[in-house]
Amino acid sequence: MDKWKRMGDELYQLQEKHLYRRIKVIESAQSAHVRYQGRDMLMLASNSYLDFCDEERIKEYAAKALMEYGTGSGGSRLTTGTTVLHTRLEEALARFKGREAALVFNTGFAANSGVIPALCGEGEIIYSDAKNHASIIDGCRQSKAETVIYRHNDMADLEKKILERPGKSGLIVSDGVFSMDGDIVDLPGLVKLADTYGLLSMIDEAHATGVIGATGRGCEEYYHMEGRTDILMGTLSKAIGGEGGYVCGPCILTEYLKNKARSYIFSTSLSPVAMAAAARALELIESEPWRVHRLQENIKWFCHKLQELGLNVRSETAIVPILIGEEEKAERISDELMERGFFIPAIRYPTVGKGEAMLRAALMATHTKEELAEAAGAIAEVICHCG
Ligand SMILES: *Cc1c(COP(=O)(O)O)cnc(C)c1O
Repeated sequence: MDKWKRMGDELYQLQEKHLYRRIKVIESAQSAHVRYQGRDMLMLASNSYLDFCDEERIKEYAAKALMEYGTGSGGSRLTTGTTVLHTRLEEALARFKGREAALVFNTGFAANSGVIPALCGEGEIIYSDAKNHASIIDGCRQSKAETVIYRHNDMADLEKKILERPGKSGLIVSDGVFSMDGDIVDLPGLVKLADTYGLLSMIDEAHATGVIGATGRGCEEYYHMEGRTDILMGTLSKAIGGEGGYVCGPCILTEYLKNKARSYIFSTSLSPVAMAAAARALELIESEPWRVHRLQENIKWFCHKLQELGLNVRSETAIVPILIGEEEKAERISDELMERGFFIPAIRYPTVGKGEAMLRAALMATHTKEELAEAAGAIAEVICHCG
């Protein structure tokens, strides 16, 4: 009997359907240009929107922290794993987001999958957007609360579903910037419903922080609704260019989570180096607003160039989806663009729906206008050829 047969069969099936995932190995630091298979490529897929993974001053500061505090934290946050670098970063995050307190988790994934089950239990309801990130979905699955999925960013559908369950307490949770389509949550609508019906509101700012709002503070700044969401979570691994996740809110929230969130309690905390890198990156977002502005200009420029070439794209965020449709075609287009030196992946089922495969371009503050114009030209040409 072959114990591995079922896995082999399933992998073969995935290959047949053009859904097999392969790892691409990068041979340099993550920046606007990377080395891949020995060649220089224009990186149009990274979440390092402000190009902070390879920023000199951040690296120097992190290197100093490495030499002073060492490679690991040696314990969970509640035992020996909290250094002054952890608490300083939490203070900086709380200030940046205009909240009383912040709590750092090991990843954004760990934050969502730990926070949601801690906040909502038996007899309560979680209202979750149909296009929320996998980590929110996992958090909902781990909670003993009932999860109700509402239509993507549809506040009328959300209200209808709330009214079907009168008097129930719970949480409304949504991505701030949706991770595949790059669209922005209807925050005014969501907060109004949460406040009207006595539910907590929670926004995941993984792709919003450092990207939207006049100074890159995210969704509340974008809508001029500072302080109106109950719970803000996010990641240190995207625009901030490091690793880790966080949650911001009133002190009562962070104190509660320190006592209740399993992914916070039962995991060794991040290294002091990760804390130092994120703290320096936050300082740079504040002291050098040109990065966020350049990113926002790049988004407008790139969408404009693609539109000029007849492609129907629209985005106000660093994520610019270009719908293709068939999985096989998206794969071919992406391969051809890679061949020409543009690193743009095809996104396929199950990350998006079947037959809704797309190219997902992600922009950086340090892409030049010329590079983006050239990329737009290549994308339009290859889509035309592969049509
Ligand atoms: C990437 C992402 C996360 C997970 O954050 P990590 O720090 O990468 O684990 C959570 N939510 C959303 C919306 C994301 O895009």
